[in-house]
Amino acid sequence: MPGPGAYLVGAEEKRHVAEVMETGYLSRYGREDDPRFCRKVVTLEKQFAERSGTRYALAVSGGTGAIMASLVGLGVGSGVEVLVPGYTFVASISAVLAVGGIPVLTEIDESLTMDPKDLEQKITEKTRVIMPVHMLGNPSAMDEIMAIARRNKLLVLEDCCQALGARYHGKPIGAIGDIGAFSLNINKTITSGDGGMVITNDEKFYERAFGFHDQGHKPLRMGLEMGKRSILGINLRMNELTGAFALGQMEKLDRILETLKDKKAKFKKPLVDARIPGMTFRTINDPDECATLLAVILDDPKEAARIAKELGTKTVSESGWHVYNHMEQILAVVDERGKKRYRRHMLPHTDDILGRSIALSVGVVDPGLGAGFGITVLSSDDEIAKAAESFIRVARPGRLATGH
Ligand SMILES: *Cc1c(COP(=O)(O)O)cnc(C)c1O
Repeated sequence: MPGPGAYLVGAEEKRHVAEVMETGYLSRYGREDDPRFCRKVVTLEKQFAERSGTRYALAVSGGTGAIMASLVGLGVGSGVEVLVPGYTFVASISAVLAVGGIPVLTEIDESLTMDPKDLEQKITEKTRVIMPVHMLGNPSAMDEIMAIARRNKLLVLEDCCQALGARYHGKPIGAIGDIGAFSLNINKTITSGDGGMVITNDEKFYERAFGFHDQGHKPLRMGLEMGKRSILGINLRMNELTGAFALGQMEKLDRILETLKDKKAKFKKPLVDARIPGMTFRTINDPDECATLLAVILDDPKEAARIAKELGTKTVSESGWHVYNHMEQILAVVDERGKKRYRRHMLPHTDDILGRSIALSVGVVDPGLGAGFGITVLSSDDEIAKAAESFIRVARPGRLATGH
């Protein structure tokens, strides 16, 4: 049940991986003077930085690690508060806890991303970072978020794990805030099974993120450098096989994004034309989003639940570890006085919106995300028309029956 890149694995990945296997250089570090050393991870970093227009890119072992390294890069540690939406994959929140920070949950709006209006009220003297999450391929309202960040002297970490390839007002996401974190997990736009990336323009943030990802080392060392470690680090390194696979996927990224845009438009048009009473679409903050998913919002939560059920899927509010209400490991977190930090239904606006929302797959087919119904990156025009028809057939009669 993967993302679009996983549907399109082929000759490109094979070629890059075979090159690594023929040389035996499996670690990102190898002999610089050996022309056989392919430097796949370093090449992947270069491509990411170029695409994003950032000075630095750091490959890591996964999206969660990318967020952790980014947080450490920005100086988040014990007791520092990070603002993060209550609708996100659990990793955005657990990464903050894992580096000693305190996640403070914010509401979302009808874009299903961070609500800038709720943000300012949640800022305290302990807040240092805002973490917008570009959910379901849709960029967050970055203009508003950046304005609030600058006004309050806060740093911005963009969680781009679900939105590689999206742009906001002409800028690649991840390059708008101070640092950006990406995932190459199987459910994302492109994949290497697992993998991640950090991008930034700031040398200090990059050095700290790099150090955290590799035992405190300075960037791009090739060998030991005893006594020169800048900070305490762990191991989040990407290896050459992963880097090679990801390079194969990078070759298809533009084609994937174009295909998704085309298929989403074909899927959405009949739904718009059907003018289903009481149904709108999620707000898209920039048309240059990722187009991995199509999300509808109903007026009536009962109607949303009925439609989802008849389609064999669920409302976004039921999408497991993407909604704070279902994150039992987060709900169990206590503060220094032993008091629970979070509770179910503490974000009423988020609960209301998610209870009326249904996510339909376009390129990411993931029931865990609530997207168990829809199309894939391989769907034909005929299949797309049929999926749209099925949706309209299910979405309509209930409306008539309830008299709307
Ligand atoms: C997938 C995802 C992550 C974590 O990425 P992994 O590669 O699975 O560690 C973090 N945040 C969001 C929003 C995600 O969708």
